[in-house]
Amino acid sequence: MISKIQPLQFKEQGMKRKKTRQMHVGGIPIGGGSPIVVQSMLKTNPENFIETLEQTRELKKAGCELVRIALPQEETCKIIPFLRKEVDVPIIGDIHFNHKIALKAMELGIDGIRVNPGTINNLRKMREIATAALETKTPVRLGMNIGSMEKRVLKKYTRPSADAMVESALYHVALFEDVGWTELKVSLKASDIRETIDAYRKFSRKSDYPLHVGITEAGPVFSGAIKSAIGIGILLHEGIGDTIRVSLTGNPVYEVIAAYHILRDLGLRKRGINIISCPTCGRTKVDLAAIVEEFEKEINDFDSYLDVAIMGCEVNGPGEAREADIGLAFGANSAMLFKKGTVIKSGIPREMAKNILKEEIFNMVNR
Ligand code: SF4
Repeated sequence: MISKIQPLQFKEQGMKRKKTRQMHVGGIPIGGGSPIVVQSMLKTNPENFIETLEQTRELKKAGCELVRIALPQEETCKIIPFLRKEVDVPIIGDIHFNHKIALKAMELGIDGIRVNPGTINNLRKMREIATAALETKTPVRLGMNIGSMEKRVLKKYTRPSADAMVESALYHVALFEDVGWTELKVSLKASDIRETIDAYRKFSRKSDYPLHVGITEAGPVFSGAIKSAIGIGILLHEGIGDTIRVSLTGNPVYEVIAAYHILRDLGLRKRGINIISCPTCGRTKVDLAAIVEEFEKEINDFDSYLDVAIMGCEVNGPGEAREADIGLAFGANSAMLFKKGTVIKSGIPREMAKNILKEEIFNMVNR
């Protein structure tokens, strides 16, 4: 049984978000001014229940709020009741080509489905999905992808484009509305950032359905995270987007980490430790890169939001450490620890500094 969302710590501020209608997946509100929801996708074989369960748990631990699973055949739907029983996070089935997989997944109680009208490519079958969604009360994402557009729409446009995706999305929204089912969200993804932004902007001007935002096939972890941060970041900054997924070729936990970085750096959600560290230079007398890398790994699954400074020397160290919630400033031989602007420890041996910082953070968040 899936419980209602346990809201993570978040604080919304700053930019004005576009008002969308609200829908829910597994009790989690999406759109209508609710916190922007973080999603990711399982990369295990859905026939391997144990590996898939383990990855689902890892994603949940990392803060993933909706977990999508590829369901390539009808038989793979068998995993749905198992996952829903074993782990308390809503599961969304990702369905292409065969609309019967969507019908089966809904019959087995999936929390939500994502269908691509381009790969189903048949209006009668899309209508069957809409009718089953209405009957089973299953929320649906209409997920357009520039690489797999409906043939019907492609006839009209000379090439797959933002306009073609928008037209296909609006058409299918109307098809679902006609059936009487409006628990919908929409995505319009392309691997080209400008095309993606164009599609979301255009759709958003014409419709108030909530939007799932992402850059598809963004690439490997490092470059893909940058590409996603630019594309998703621009849209979020314009107030567009109600749930996000960072698509990376790599461990999906990195997708969740990257998603929270984007939201945190835009001031849209506050979750986890925000590390402020200097780039180091010829003045640094400590292996700051190694310390920060280790520290980052150790605090990755922290829910509580804190600004933590780890700085290389006395030039900018004390200033940044004082401004942060807690901060470590290394000097020539030792380090100083600041908490809320005040020095609470000095003369800390370099090799003990990281652990002392961590201990103090634990005390702060567990108080
Ligand atoms: S804080 Fe110090 S060590 Fe770090 S970059 Fe600035 S001058 Fe260099």
